Amino acid sequence: MLVRLSFRAAARSFFTASALLLGLAAAAAQTPPPARPARKADLDPHIVAALKAVSAAQIKADIVKLVSFYNRSTLSPATPEAIQSGRGIGAAREWIQAEFERYSKECGGCLEVKTESYVQPPGERVQSPTEIVDVYAVLKGTDEANAGRIVLVTGHYDSRNSDNYNTTDAAPGANDDASGTAVSLECARVLSKHKFPATIIFLAVAGEEQGLYGSKHFAEMAKAEKWELEAVLDNDIVGGNKTPGDKLQDPSIVRVFSEGVPDAASDRDLRLLRALGGENDSSSRELARYIRETSRTYLSGPFGPKLIFRRDRYLRGGDHTAFNDAGFAAVRFTEYREDFNHQHQNVRTENGIEYGDLPKFVDYDYVANVARLNAATLASLASAPAPPATVRLLTRNLENDSTLTWEPSPGGLAAGYEVVWRATTAPYWENVVPVGNVTRYTLKQSKDNVIFAVRAVDNSGHRSLPVVPLPER
Ligand SMILES: [Zn+2]
Repeated sequence: MLVRLSFRAAARSFFTASALLLGLAAAAAQTPPPARPARKADLDPHIVAALKAVSAAQIKADIVKLVSFYNRSTLSPATPEAIQSGRGIGAAREWIQAEFERYSKECGGCLEVKTESYVQPPGERVQSPTEIVDVYAVLKGTDEANAGRIVLVTGHYDSRNSDNYNTTDAAPGANDDASGTAVSLECARVLSKHKFPATIIFLAVAGEEQGLYGSKHFAEMAKAEKWELEAVLDNDIVGGNKTPGDKLQDPSIVRVFSEGVPDAASDRDLRLLRALGGENDSSSRELARYIRETSRTYLSGPFGPKLIFRRDRYLRGGDHTAFNDAGFAAVRFTEYREDFNHQHQNVRTENGIEYGDLPKFVDYDYVANVARLNAATLASLASAPAPPATVRLLTRNLENDSTLTWEPSPGGLAAGYEVVWRATTAPYWENVVPVGNVTRYTLKQSKDNVIFAVRAVDNSGHRSLPVVPLPER
C-alpha cells in the first residue's frame, strides 16, 4: 500500500510542479516535488467541453440498439433481407454507419464515413468465405502539416454466444463489445463538434470473436499505406459489469493493458532493448502512461485507469494486438473485474445463475467515464505537436552527465520541449524539465541510473507522446 501511494504522489508531481521545483528536482532527483492539483490554465476548453457532452443516456441507447440486432455474429446473415429484418451483423453495421453519418450531418459534413471490407477465406472459426466489414469515420485534421498524423479509437461490434457457429439464438454482447463500440460512437459524437490539427479515426470492427480478423485487415491496410498512426485505443468489455452481489467490482477502475516487449520488434530491436533495459518502454507503454497523465489532468472524481504492464489479460488477446503486430502503439481498455457468466454465453438461467451478456448488467455511467478518458486522450494527442524526431542519447564519451539531442517536432506546432525521466524501477515518469525551444540538452543525471524521454509541447500546454532516445556513439 505504501509503495502504491508513493507512486501516485510521484506521478502527480510530474504533472503539476512548476519549472522552479522541477529545476530543484533535477538537482536532487531522489526527492520529487510535492503533489499539487493540475493547474486550470493547462486545461484545453475544447476538451473540457467535449468531455462534458459525453452522455450515459446516449451510450445506453447505443448499447440497447446494438443488442436489438439479436445476434451480431460475424457469421450471421448480412443479406438485404436480413438487414431489412433488423437482425444480424449486416443490420448492425448499417446502423453504425448511419449513426456516424448522422453525427457528420450535425457538424456540416465534418466526418468522412467509410467501410473497409474483404472476404475471409475458411480458416480458424470460419467455415465458409465470409465478408468482414469494418465501419469507420474520419475527423480530418485541420492543420495541413499535421493532418497526416492519426489517432484511433476502436471497439468490435460483432458478438457471439456459447457456440461460435450459432447465428440464430440470442448473442446480445452488451458488454462484449457493444460497450466498446458505444465508446467509439460517443467519442465521434462529442469530438466531431470540435476541430483538431491532427486526424482522429473512430472505428468499429467485425470478426474479433473468430480471430481479430477485422482489426488485422485494418492494421495491415494502415501499415501498407504507411499511415502515421500514433495511437490506437481499443475498448473491449468496458461495461463495468454489475452482477447483483458482486462486491469486488470496482467502478472507479478501468484497466489499460500495454505490451512491454513489442510484438513487432526485430532481432536487432530485441538486442538493443536487452542492452538498454528497454523492456518497459515500448511505444504502447508510453501511450498507457500518457492515458494515465491525461486522466489526472481532465477527469475529476475517483474514476481512472489502472495500468497493467502486460499485453492483455493472462493468455488472452484482443484487437489492439493486431495493431501491435503491425508495429503501432496500441492499448486495451477493459473493466476491472470481468464476469464470465456474462461473456460468450447463451442467455439462460441455471441453478439460479443468470447467464448471458445482457444490457441489465451494464453500468452506463461507467461506460461514460471510459468514453471520457478515451475522448480526452484522443483530443489531447490530436491537439498536440508531433513527437520530436530522431531522439538520441550521446554515448561517445564515458561521463556521468547525460546529453540528449533531437530533431524538431515535424509539423510546426511545437513551442518547446520537455525532458522527462524516472528511476529504472519506477512505473511512471517522475521528473520533467522544460528545456525551451532547443534540440540539445545536458542533465546532471547518469544515463546508467534512469530512463529519459523527450516530448514536444505547444503554447497551450498540449504535450506529444514522449520518445525514449536511442544511443548515439
Ligand atoms: Zn470482445
